[in-house]
Amino acid sequence: MPRLYADHNATAPLRPQAREAMVAALETGGNPSSVHGEGRRAKRLLEDSRETLAAALECVPDAITFTSGATEALHMAMDSAKGMGFGPVYLSAVEHDAAWAYAIKLWPDARIVPVDGNAQLDVAWLEQAIAQDGGRPLLIAQGANNETGTIQPLDRLSTIVRAAGGAVLCDGVQMLGKLAASSFAGLADWFVVSSHKIGGPLGAGALVAAPGIVLANTRPGGGQERGARAGTENVAAIAGFAAAASVACTDEAIYAYQTLTGTQRDAFEDFLSQNSPNFLFIGKQKPLPHKGEGEPSRLSNTSCIATPNWEAARQVMALDLMGFAVSAGSACSSGKVKTSRVLAAAGYGADIAGCAIRASFGWNSQEGDGHLLAAAYLKVGARYI
Ligand code: PLP
Repeated sequence: MPRLYADHNATAPLRPQAREAMVAALETGGNPSSVHGEGRRAKRLLEDSRETLAAALECVPDAITFTSGATEALHMAMDSAKGMGFGPVYLSAVEHDAAWAYAIKLWPDARIVPVDGNAQLDVAWLEQAIAQDGGRPLLIAQGANNETGTIQPLDRLSTIVRAAGGAVLCDGVQMLGKLAASSFAGLADWFVVSSHKIGGPLGAGALVAAPGIVLANTRPGGGQERGARAGTENVAAIAGFAAAASVACTDEAIYAYQTLTGTQRDAFEDFLSQNSPNFLFIGKQKPLPHKGEGEPSRLSNTSCIATPNWEAARQVMALDLMGFAVSAGSACSSGKVKTSRVLAAAGYGADIAGCAIRASFGWNSQEGDGHLLAAAYLKVGARYI
């Protein structure tokens, strides 16, 4: 039986358009900083990719700095915020480690913004803290959570922080390709995206900086990316990233993605719920975006499910052996599974957080995937359910 991949929030499979663009770029060759014909061709590819990505992000091309991925872009953004003297710093409790670890290193005294049981930021807490603390607040908050799919109210957060003279640094990795650009464009002072989450290649990402933002060049070198990020650009990966963005981020593509993944995710959850009352779906709340009712509050593709007494690592391994790829918490670089800090922040003890896995559908999910995955889950977990 073919494998069923439901781990798009970790890495989405490469889209054919991205592969094609990469092969063409590799064949073009050249160094974009060289002045000869080959170099100019590489430079043109790079700048065309910047324009394509800018259209997807609804920003100007000059706002984009290409990086090796979201982690590097997040760190660049934080260096910039630090250099511009923003503070006090408010760090959302549910950030990905890519942002969390560096933020804690730069600002050990950052105030942690609490979340509720759905991993939704406590906006009232933030509003009050900002009013009390004064200064030029910096909010570091993701737009959507990789583990639970929880969508944060970026527009409200942005309004509150900017009204106080502050700035917003948003990890938009899980928003791109899943939510319309109108839900994030212009709302953050630094906005970060990653190629491999939308079906582009691994190893490319981008930082979008708002007008007036000064990027701190902490690693000087060859002056690439207008001096903001030294090192020869990975033109083939960037071309693949742009190609993926051009097919994944139009309004029509987003609607199709939400419909496809929402249908599969709902089928997965509904089938499980019909078979047992013992599951907990973390982050399941309010109406879903693809149904067009109310404010979207969870990504259409993501399900975070906890089955008490069935350890998450065992769930992932059992499903893997049956041909299904899901994940426990966020995938760590070591390949090890650790108890989720996000779920702990949302108030879940080890009994739940240690027993939660994530299924995330995506652009190449097929009709029936949700049902197949649920059936496999019930089968391998029969003695816990
Ligand atoms: N932020 C979020 C929300 C993510 O899901 C990820 C990916 O795991 C990252 C940041 C890091 O992205 P990258 O692998 O491009 O460094």
